[in-house]
Amino acid sequence: MTRNILLLPGDGIGTEVVAEAKKVIDWFSAHRGLNAKTDEALLGGCAYDATGTPFPKETLEKARKSDAILLGAVGGPKWESLDYSVRPERGLLGIRKELQLFANLRPALCFDALADSSTLKREVIAGLDIMIVRELTGDVYFGEPRGVETLPDGTRKGYNTLVYTSPEVQRIARVAFELARKRNGRVCSVDKANVLEATEMWRQEVQKIHDEEYPDTQLSHMYVDNASMQLVRNPRQFDVMVTTNMFGDILSDTASMLTGSLGMLPSASLGAKQADGRIPSLYEPVHGSAPDIAGQNKANPLATILSVAMMLRYSFDLGKDADLLEAAVRNVLAKGIRTADIAVKGEKTVTTSEMGAAVLKTLDELNKNAKAA
Ligand code: NAD
Repeated sequence: MTRNILLLPGDGIGTEVVAEAKKVIDWFSAHRGLNAKTDEALLGGCAYDATGTPFPKETLEKARKSDAILLGAVGGPKWESLDYSVRPERGLLGIRKELQLFANLRPALCFDALADSSTLKREVIAGLDIMIVRELTGDVYFGEPRGVETLPDGTRKGYNTLVYTSPEVQRIARVAFELARKRNGRVCSVDKANVLEATEMWRQEVQKIHDEEYPDTQLSHMYVDNASMQLVRNPRQFDVMVTTNMFGDILSDTASMLTGSLGMLPSASLGAKQADGRIPSLYEPVHGSAPDIAGQNKANPLATILSVAMMLRYSFDLGKDADLLEAAVRNVLAKGIRTADIAVKGEKTVTTSEMGAAVLKTLDELNKNAKAA
């Protein structure tokens, strides 16, 4: 079976980190039978420059035909003065919308070797392993009406609308409960039910799905303000957190900082199972295009490489291969190999391509050991 993977390197460091991730994909084809066929397409600022739109039709067509998509990052100062409708980020929102990628999975995992590079104390974050499930296609980001109006008295009114329907809440709740079953069985649903009616409905719907379909898991509810505090105070209390688009946007960034660096954080965005059994899925590092270090071979490719591990696990059901890749990353870090973003003062650092090469070398070693065993 050929697995078609579409690469969307995008802008800035996106191209550098995806190049390293592609080598990892090729390694799994050569050594573990992944049998991947990769193709590339344009998204973001590079797509705007080439075609006048950040999300060309050809990219959508290729995305629809692929089994999984790996994205680098989009955006940069070059495109910041463009109209909102053609900004690079529109490409990203567009592909999520077109493929109905409603579930964003963001693990916050603390690698032991990096526990000291977090701003929190080692004893608070060592062993941390949270999965944040963020709803991705609803909420104020897409709700209508929206806009900015000038009122008769000359003042301006800006407004966005928080909208959720019960099926939207139910399907994201199911994703969270399914994940919890494969982890430690606990889901914390985050809302602002004391103030926002739409999220009071969210709470009721999540509870209903739990009671009717997942009574074997443990469900708790938390207000978002408390959740943001608890994430910093005692993050290990959480297993799976499920929340709305906007709350998830903010909480997942807080969670990411617990683990040290943006350069270490993978993510997955999944859609609903299609008639042919495929689940539309896009994998990407959490970080952006990092214009400050773009083109300098300094970016940390591990977030993108760990996104490949998520792809192996969630799109291709290759849990053992995902474990192997994650072990290789853990091993590289334990050897003290660091890009600048995860190095402590005075530590020797490696380049993007050297980090990629270190992962491949460690994969070779681990694979050889596994075969010998
Ligand atoms: P950013 O994530 O690009 O960078 C923030 C800081 O983290 C920078 O100092 C950067 O050098 C560093 N950093 C990020 N990734 C790194 C990596 N892999 N290795 C080492 N250091 C890394 O966020 P920003 O500066 O706010 O945004 C820059 C551009 O990226 C903007 O145009 C923004 O819209 C876009 N952006 C895109 C995405 C995406 O494509 N998913 C996400 C966030 C931001």
